[in-house]
Amino acid sequence: MSEMTGYPDSFYAATAVGVRDYPVLDGERQADVCVIGGGFTGLSAALNLAERGLDVVLLEAERVGFGASGRCGGLVGSGQRQEVLDAEKMFGLERSQELWGFAEAAKQEIRERVEKHDIACDLHRGQLVGVHKKRYLGWARETVDVLAERYDYPFCAALDREETHARVATSTFLGGLYDPEALTMHPLNYSLGLARAAAEAGVRIYENSRVSRYSHTDPAIVEAGGGSVTAAFVVLACNGYLGDLEPRVAGKIMPINNFMIATEPLGEARANELINGRFGVHDTRFVVNYFRMSDDHRLLFGGGENYRAGFPADIKGFVRPYMLKLFPQLRDVAIEYGWGGTLSVTANRLPHVGRLQPNVFYGQGYSGHGISIASFAGKVIAEAITGTAGRFDVFANLPTHTFPGGTLLRYPGMVLAMLYYTIKDRI
Ligand SMILES: Cc1cc2nc3c(=O)[nH]c(=O)nc-3n(C[C@H](O)[C@H](O)[C@H](O)COP(=O)(O)OP(=O)(O)OC[C@H]3O[C@@H](n4cnc5c(N)ncnc54)[C@H](O)[C@@H]3O)c2cc1C
Repeated sequence: MSEMTGYPDSFYAATAVGVRDYPVLDGERQADVCVIGGGFTGLSAALNLAERGLDVVLLEAERVGFGASGRCGGLVGSGQRQEVLDAEKMFGLERSQELWGFAEAAKQEIRERVEKHDIACDLHRGQLVGVHKKRYLGWARETVDVLAERYDYPFCAALDREETHARVATSTFLGGLYDPEALTMHPLNYSLGLARAAAEAGVRIYENSRVSRYSHTDPAIVEAGGGSVTAAFVVLACNGYLGDLEPRVAGKIMPINNFMIATEPLGEARANELINGRFGVHDTRFVVNYFRMSDDHRLLFGGGENYRAGFPADIKGFVRPYMLKLFPQLRDVAIEYGWGGTLSVTANRLPHVGRLQPNVFYGQGYSGHGISIASFAGKVIAEAITGTAGRFDVFANLPTHTFPGGTLLRYPGMVLAMLYYTIKDRI
């Protein structure tokens, strides 16, 4: 953690643009809505609410974008975390198409926000899914066909081994699925841009203002450090960093730590040899590897996770073997940054968005697909608070499961399940 910036020492923090200091909450404030948490969910909710004329206070325990939003891989995939083929089996075609449409709207909203607020976050197009097992080659072909035929999305292509290898220099991919309309971004800079836009729209942002509790009353009283906010509505947007603030939603998510590294700059020629473009890449493994080139030609690589409190002492050493497995040709390359973040997953990999009581809303559990869906969840929460609950209701009515063991004991069973799938992935 950098004492200078208050952000973890990541490549993103080192290349952050437009960091602003927001004050610490002190004294009593009134607002229409108090948003708790300054990641994509909270920032998007706050900005959309302010644009609809509401008076909003956002309380962030650390800095805006401090959590997963400012540390993540930056791959903005199309669709939901739950694949269309699985979603159709779960809910039928119509609901699956509706959810796909939401994700398309979420991607579009990101493009529009970047443009409208002039956010310098290195937005690029394209994503390749690298198939690491023969059995997923059929999945890639079927997904491409189904998206074109049933989702009005004719853009993807299934790639054979040679075509994949021409784009990404790893021999571990047997084929791929290329989506030219997915996006990549510098996620901390996008978070900082959203925060600036929210502040300019009138949101009062307070940093280093950790909420210790809030009353389940109407209006609610939200307490943070030396101050409090009395608000008609509360939005809980703490996700993997929720802790014990709200046990009523904590049991629905499993916090997971995931890790990234950034190499030294590789130079343009070597970078292009490794990945032939600025698209993002992830593979089909259960514990997914994901990577892309930064604008200064570093490989940003995510791989490896753990399921307990605390990160490995040597994150660079922890992630590097995952990178070398795909790119043994990078053995000579120095790793300049290593960092981790906490996201949350739900048992069925569907987002957990809803309303705990008439004036308390929440969004969490995007299961590794949160750049677009968290931002969209913030928007539909804002819509619901301002009286248009249609899209919010679709999310709120998605099935949810409580992790066995509830809030406190949900880890042991989940860790076993994770290990099972990781081993299954290898064989
Ligand atoms: C390493 C990593 C890689 C990832 N890669 C991708 C990717 O490539 N693509 C993708 O789509 N998704 C990815 N994700 C997931 C994505 O980052 C998250 O789904 C998304 O950022 C969640 O946003 P959020 O606002 O809900 O939560 P967060 O960004 O985690 O924000 C929660 C905020 O709440 C604050 N908070 C917590 N408690 C309190 C309190 N009591 N009072 C006040 N504030 C509080 C925290 O400080 C934090 O800033 C990744 C996640 C990680 C960790």
